[in-house]
Amino acid sequence: MEKEKTEKFDHMKLINDYAGSYKNLITLGKLIAAVSAVLSLIPFYDLWKIIKIAVNGEELSKIKAYAWQAVILTVLSLFVYIAALFCTHIAAFRVQANMRSRLMRRIITLPLGVFDEEGTGKIRRIVNDSTAATETFIAHNVPDKVVAAVTPVGLMVLIFAFNWKIGIICLIPALIGFVCMMSMMGKGMQEKMTEYQNALAEMSGEATEYVRGIPVVKTFGQTVYSFKRFKASIDNYGKWTTDYTLMLRKPMIGFMTCINAIFAFIVFAAFLVTKDGTSQTDILNIMYYIIVTPLITVALTKVAYSGEAEMTLVDAMKRVESVMAIEPLSESESQNVPKDNSIELKNISYRYKDATRDAVSNVSLKIKQGEHVAFVGPSGSGKTTIAELIARFFDVTDGEILIGDTDIRKVPQKSLMDRVSFVFQDSRLIKTSILDNVRMAKPDASEEEVLEALKKAQCMDIIDKLPEGIHTVIGEKGTYLSGGEQQRITIARAVLKDAQILILDEATAFADPDNEAKVQAAFDELAKDKTLIMIAHRMSTVMNADRIYVLDKGSLVESGNHEELMNQNGLYKKLFDEYTKSIEWKVGA
Ligand code: ADP
Ligand code: MG
Repeated sequence: MEKEKTEKFDHMKLINDYAGSYKNLITLGKLIAAVSAVLSLIPFYDLWKIIKIAVNGEELSKIKAYAWQAVILTVLSLFVYIAALFCTHIAAFRVQANMRSRLMRRIITLPLGVFDEEGTGKIRRIVNDSTAATETFIAHNVPDKVVAAVTPVGLMVLIFAFNWKIGIICLIPALIGFVCMMSMMGKGMQEKMTEYQNALAEMSGEATEYVRGIPVVKTFGQTVYSFKRFKASIDNYGKWTTDYTLMLRKPMIGFMTCINAIFAFIVFAAFLVTKDGTSQTDILNIMYYIIVTPLITVALTKVAYSGEAEMTLVDAMKRVESVMAIEPLSESESQNVPKDNSIELKNISYRYKDATRDAVSNVSLKIKQGEHVAFVGPSGSGKTTIAELIARFFDVTDGEILIGDTDIRKVPQKSLMDRVSFVFQDSRLIKTSILDNVRMAKPDASEEEVLEALKKAQCMDIIDKLPEGIHTVIGEKGTYLSGGEQQRITIARAVLKDAQILILDEATAFADPDNEAKVQAAFDELAKDKTLIMIAHRMSTVMNADRIYVLDKGSLVESGNHEELMNQNGLYKKLFDEYTKSIEWKVGA
């Protein structure tokens, strides 16, 4: 199955598809490039004429005419080639723009969970680099490919026109070189190329995630674990690069030897042709072939490079199509509106793509409107996954999630997004003013509304110390906010959005002691009269919840309020005792 798909991948059709009406420009560019290739070969005929005149001692003034013709045609061919580049560049930019806008339009319809699953680094690489590779291919490699195809044909004519015997001998090394080259572009090579590119993508993805994860690494001391994945990706890349290179070694040596050995064959040809005595025509031809045969080298090298460029292109386009192939969240026709802000999970399960076991299995629970609940459990127990399922980052594999008695898959996405706010532990601010950062939650909010939200989120001390208040651009002129401060700004964002269901995932994890009290006060303000789900490391924050759900390995194992759970003497009590101990440790230290 998989193999069949790879073979059917028609990249030129896809390019035409992205190019739209600009595909005619690509065709025009190809035609002009062909003309340029032919023009560039004619001077070699002039050259033969010039040598002939010189060897035969004819009238030297004729040489001048041929020389001028050669010069003019060479320059002309260059200009014609530039015209071809012009056409293909315009088309290439259009294709790149179309690809990027189609990709982005697709990406915004994708379930938010895809960005966790695929890694944002990888998606960024596809949107930027893979489309750029396509642009380079169309702009430069398409005309080069035409030249690379036309030149050998023209060369054949030039080589066989004057002396077919020398022609054949000169072709021997070229043919061997060609065979070596084809073996470099065989089917196995495309696979190796894909694996090599995969390893590269994975390494750069891991690097992005690693750098981004440094705060987590430092806070929770996960050094060894995170190093492992990054290092594994580097090792893997090293392995594939070596493999790929080693596989190319033999054909590459053969290719380089052949195409550079053409001169040796001319000596041999000259020997054969002149062994029964030398005529002036023989001298003429041999001189001519000495000049022309290096062209074979140039032409073959071009063909080789255009083949490699094509492999890179196929790989890039496949990556783009892989993103285009991800199914967007289904948008229901019916315009159901949840009747209130209660949440019910009915026997839900979720399994991540390619995972061997469920991240969440058979969880059922009910959260009343306005109730404040907490999810606790060891790391990896499925807390974040459940929270993300409620916000419909992805759809459950099994079961049903109801908000206000309505299946969330039947609620229009916009209306669901308006109803649910999500604050993550690593909510990031974008590089724009504080005003615009907060306003993202409600684009038509006035400045007063934004200020009000910032006040409620306890951010005024941050705003006051900034040079231009809420108009200060974050990340510019050394304006950086601490993790806790950024956290408070993102809370202001949630305050402004004023969604009725609030999910806080490890939202206080990075707050320093100074910030923690403020962040907590901001949360209290934010959660007033809201349905609240909080996930927290710090047991002190979850103790006061109306109800606490304890998760372990994806299953719901206990639930109740703090007292009830402590009396049960189960997992909750164990987690709580561990937490208290760790606090004592810190105090003791
Ligand atoms: P928690 O928030 O309780 O630490 P998560 O919900 O993040 O737990 O993870 C639950 C399980 O799902 C874990 O086994 C984790 O390895 C797995 N998991 C989480 N995110 C992904 C993902 N993007 N792809 C595959 N598996 C994942
Ligand atoms: Mg989590």
